[in-house]
Amino acid sequence: MRDAKKILLTEKEMPGQWYNIQADLPKPLPPALHPGTGKPIGPDDLAPIFPMGLIQQEVSQERFIDIPEEIQDIYRIWRPSPLVRARNWEKALDTPAKIYYKWEGTSPAGSHKVNTSVPQAYYNMKEGVKRIATETGAGQWGSALAFACNLFGIECKVYMVKISFNQKPYRRLLMETWGAKCIPSPSTDTEAGRKVLAENPDSPGSLGIAISEAVEDTIKRDDTRYSLGSVLNHVMLHQTIIGLEVKKQFEKIGEYPDILVGCVGGGSNFAGFSIPFVRDKIVDKKKTRIIAVEPLACPSLTKGLYRYDFGDTSGLTPLLRMFTLGHNFMPAPIHAGGLRYHGMAPIISHLYDLKLIEAVAVHQRPVFEALISFARTEGHVLAPETGHAVRTAMDEALKCKQSGEKKVIVFNASGHGHFDMGSYERYLSNNLEDYEYPDELVKEAQKHLPVVPE
Ligand SMILES: *Cc1c(COP(=O)(O)O)cnc(C)c1O
Repeated sequence: MRDAKKILLTEKEMPGQWYNIQADLPKPLPPALHPGTGKPIGPDDLAPIFPMGLIQQEVSQERFIDIPEEIQDIYRIWRPSPLVRARNWEKALDTPAKIYYKWEGTSPAGSHKVNTSVPQAYYNMKEGVKRIATETGAGQWGSALAFACNLFGIECKVYMVKISFNQKPYRRLLMETWGAKCIPSPSTDTEAGRKVLAENPDSPGSLGIAISEAVEDTIKRDDTRYSLGSVLNHVMLHQTIIGLEVKKQFEKIGEYPDILVGCVGGGSNFAGFSIPFVRDKIVDKKKTRIIAVEPLACPSLTKGLYRYDFGDTSGLTPLLRMFTLGHNFMPAPIHAGGLRYHGMAPIISHLYDLKLIEAVAVHQRPVFEALISFARTEGHVLAPETGHAVRTAMDEALKCKQSGEKKVIVFNASGHGHFDMGSYERYLSNNLEDYEYPDELVKEAQKHLPVVPE
């Protein structure tokens, strides 16, 4: 019989727990620090910003955490998601490698982000929170949160990076369809926004600025909490449902991947997809290669510094030990909006520092070349962010063609690109340029990093 094409799990087989890598780390994660005192923060410091249910998950050392039934019911709208063998693409690449992709684009918002927006809205609802403020870059996170808030009767306010707000009206309309309010950032609704506008009325905005606005909005209102779509430990935790499913799916066909590939912005889809396999490296001494792929225009892992830094531009957030390009980082307008964050999730940074995962950085034109190759063989038009993983999966498959090795490669297809056709248009009409973040700017950013006692 031919090998399976689509490896499916039944609803009953959907994992009922998330996996917390903190329980199995060979070295504990460096703590988050208070921006004022430089001392490790406690749960009470975070209480004005997040509900306690999520704060507990943020610091939990428990290995498995139950997924509440109400969340599982919503997950079942699109989960378990399929693992698919890209056989047409293998043939086109003429590779002996087997290439699989985990398909997260079937969710209502079109990406993996709903895996965390739903539990985040749920724990807020449980604690009586009436309103959530957040930021969004390309609009993926804003729409994922709008979807989740609506299901739990929570008001949702989204600060969307202005350049994307103008370029992606349909993402905003998706948020409005689900009942959220979405405004361009920098805005006049917050002091942080007004300050940026006073200095530069034409500011295109950045994720760092939008985070400052959403955090300020939260701190100023009793009924509001803040929500972050990536970076934090509890977000990585929620996303592990992806990798737990992938493991079960490979078990079903009696295979185990040699290479896992995922794109990284803040690190959440990559973490969720790969962390159950990182566990196997730590505990079972597996030799799997696990590769994080980032844009050369925003190379936090490959060029950044592993230091304590703020999560936002204004310095309102706790200090996180992470690979960072500096919180003042102003991204180039590349077409993978979701990968333009200055830092990297502390968990991913830690795993990279421990050499449990690898990282590569790629240019956006080769990324689109790979996306087109994938679309013309497998059909799915993937998000530009996802394209970074597609590129590296393709490079690894082409290496197998050289060496004749029959490796099993799997990448995380984090989302579809149906709202990103403007970027495809620019690529297809030959108007997309490559941009590499200059080393001098990394050195410059180093000067502005906060000083913390070691
Ligand atoms: C947001 C987004 C990303 C990047 O965010 P991570 O937290 O690094 O996963 C990648 N792919 C898609 C489709 C996204 O929407």
